[in-house]
Amino acid sequence: MVEQKKDIDKTEEQKLWKILEEVKDPEVPVLSIIDLGIVRDIVVTSPLSSSAGEGPGVRLIITPTYSGCPAMDVIQMDIRLKLLEHGYRNIQIQQSLSPAWTTDWMTEEGKRKLKEFGIAPPNPKQQFCTPEMFQQEAVQCPRCNSFHTELISQFGSTACKALYRCIDCKEAFDYFKCH
Ligand SMILES: [Zn+2]
Repeated sequence: MVEQKKDIDKTEEQKLWKILEEVKDPEVPVLSIIDLGIVRDIVVTSPLSSSAGEGPGVRLIITPTYSGCPAMDVIQMDIRLKLLEHGYRNIQIQQSLSPAWTTDWMTEEGKRKLKEFGIAPPNPKQQFCTPEMFQQEAVQCPRCNSFHTELISQFGSTACKALYRCIDCKEAFDYFKCH
């Protein structure tokens, strides 16, 4: 009986990962929160159907791309709405700040989508997101792949992106610093 229940939870968990792919980053709508790598854990907390008529419960652990990112409130609300839409009730979302999010958690698929969107993906050598770190980075132009770029402004179209210009193709572009 115990084994059987585990299998059900596993299936339910996989379904949840799929559903969460529908939740997009409000600032870069081509990216899902799964692409960003901010969903750390999903726990199914109550049975799929109960005599009380409640929907399945779920607890999520998410790690913000950096603490205090204003987009996180929107993301949490979007997660909640998406899960409610799929019949989940009793939704708990916990933020875990340690270990801190790193750009390594972003999926390869996510980095590819960012580049297609015209935003330079985070540098592979970048580890933790701190304002000091991105200042010295060599940022690659998403259009012509040149590293010959310069920082124009630490703030691009949103506070979480920096504005760069490519010296070779003369295009300005956003660099995704920490979400
Ligand atoms: Zn360029």
